[in-house]
Amino acid sequence: MKITIGHLYPDLLNLYGDRGNIMCLMKRCEWRGIEAETVSFELNDKISFENLDIVLLGGGSDREQMIVCTKLQEIREDFSRYVEDGGVVIAVCGGYQLLGHYYRTDQGEMKGLSLVDLYTEQGEGRLIGNVVLKSDLFEMPVTGFENHGGRTTLGKCRPLGKVLCGYGNDGQSGYEGAVYKNVIGTYLHGPILPKNPNLADYLIRKALERKYGKEISLEPLKDKEEREANDYVVRRFVQI
Ligand code: GLN
Repeated sequence: MKITIGHLYPDLLNLYGDRGNIMCLMKRCEWRGIEAETVSFELNDKISFENLDIVLLGGGSDREQMIVCTKLQEIREDFSRYVEDGGVVIAVCGGYQLLGHYYRTDQGEMKGLSLVDLYTEQGEGRLIGNVVLKSDLFEMPVTGFENHGGRTTLGKCRPLGKVLCGYGNDGQSGYEGAVYKNVIGTYLHGPILPKNPNLADYLIRKALERKYGKEISLEPLKDKEEREANDYVVRRFVQI
């Protein structure tokens, strides 16, 4: 079995170690004997979505998002076909915002991909800090770090989780992130995947199931340290 990961615009969208998400996916495949390859795309590269199994969009500053958003309109149609066909996407913070209809800031409005029914507007002050979520998708809480000025409102999609600690999508709704088909959008850096190995495995499993057209059960890995780190963070930030 083989997985091809497409890393979109890492030279622009890559904050707080988002690249670690790629390393995590590659390693967790490799440790199970699943071949994994990453293809990084720069702004002017042609992206053949039909060859990709997981697409990663990282976070970025408003300035970097502005540069990327014009380009995204050119790949919108192909990207949308990929998503509607069950293609796996993990988008973090700036990348998450660009999955939606728009991101409005006091510098202007960036048109998004409209792949997921959500929109983002800049609010007063930045929402910064550690986050712990409870997601229906995973048994372990999801942990990470957020730093965003945008507030995201969800339409017809589900949140990734309920906020146990932190601000989440808008600091008010009590929810964080978005799930639509096999797309996960989240404000969590960390990087999120090494901190949450069950989220990484969820993406790998969904990608393999789509590619090979059958149910896949991934061989468990020795995640003792990852589980202990997760537990430590949860105990530190959530009263249980
Ligand atoms: N520039 C966006 C915001 O401030 C996203 C930031 C990020 O990716 N960390 O809301």
